[in-house]
Amino acid sequence: MKKHNFSAGPCILPNEVLEEASKAIINFNNDNLSLIEISHRSTPFVQVMHEAKQLVKELLAVPDNYSILFLQGGASLEFLMVPYNLLSTDGKCAYINTGTWSKKAITEAKNLGETKVIADSSDKNYSYIPENIAITEDFDYVHLTSNNTIFGTQFKSFPETDSTLVCDMSSDIFSRKIDVSKFGLIYAGAQKNMGPAGTTLVIVKNNILGKTGRDIPSMLDYKTHIDKNSMFNTPPVFPIYVSMLTLRWLKDKGGVEYIEKINEDKSKILYEEIDRNTLFYGIVKKENRSNMNVTFNLHDNNLSKEFDILCNENGINGLKGHRSVGGYRASLYNALPIKSVEFLIELMKKFEEKNND
Ligand SMILES: *Cc1c(COP(=O)(O)O)cnc(C)c1O
Repeated sequence: MKKHNFSAGPCILPNEVLEEASKAIINFNNDNLSLIEISHRSTPFVQVMHEAKQLVKELLAVPDNYSILFLQGGASLEFLMVPYNLLSTDGKCAYINTGTWSKKAITEAKNLGETKVIADSSDKNYSYIPENIAITEDFDYVHLTSNNTIFGTQFKSFPETDSTLVCDMSSDIFSRKIDVSKFGLIYAGAQKNMGPAGTTLVIVKNNILGKTGRDIPSMLDYKTHIDKNSMFNTPPVFPIYVSMLTLRWLKDKGGVEYIEKINEDKSKILYEEIDRNTLFYGIVKKENRSNMNVTFNLHDNNLSKEFDILCNENGINGLKGHRSVGGYRASLYNALPIKSVEFLIELMKKFEEKNND
């Protein structure tokens, strides 16, 4: 039986998707060739790219004046591409620092120009989302991380601003409804909620580009990739194909609206158990708890070895927290069945009974 996979990333994908993807490795499209040995300019792959973009557009209701790209270099390269493309040579940009990924994005922006950190939750090891963020100056853009994969916090609403809003949605894209029109640019590495590592989804409003007065290397220029339909160079065909299959799966299930409800149910029952169980506690501020990455810990660290063994013996994978937080992190991405969450809860209950005897 497949393990209960709570991995934070790369993460669980639907079984149907994995089966279909494995077939395509041997014989894609009944052409007696593998998906990964045909030209990316052949009709079958061009159709994959087209369908992948269409599905993104449909599932997130992306307006017509936005481009949808599948790039390489992970979300980490977007940390650099964003300032290259949006920060003018005499302008300034703003960042909200809510954790490791935000911090890495800030480092790249600072290398290119004036970068202000307008809100920061590092004083309490990123266990909350800053409130009432005032954006009073004129910035080329304001950057935030919608879901903090490592710490387990999530923006439930987004700051209001006239500046262009840029968002790293790597770990909660397609998990809940969003209003794309509120953002100038959204990016997400595929491997958290969409597919395997190797491609990054970028959704960018066309009219925000080309205004920096900066020379941008071709591969870092969004316009290059828009003009060439994400095929300026050889695209990562397999990650794009698997992402397309996952998005098809999501659409068949009922789309983002459907999965949002399930994701709420999954996180709700797990947080309830964490709050109820006398052995465990939740790590982050309640109002800022993520529906994707649930971070928690044991009151008594001496019990951790025993709990780890119990998890291991019961086929639970990927529950260990990030080294900068410690404790546990249950990642509840779209493809994780609610049954896995219920199974984990049962285990936590058993563990409590055993230790309270
Ligand atoms: C994982 C992650 C990243 C880094 O993604 P890579 O594709 O490995 O570069 C960036 N931001 C967030 C929010 C993440 O969860």
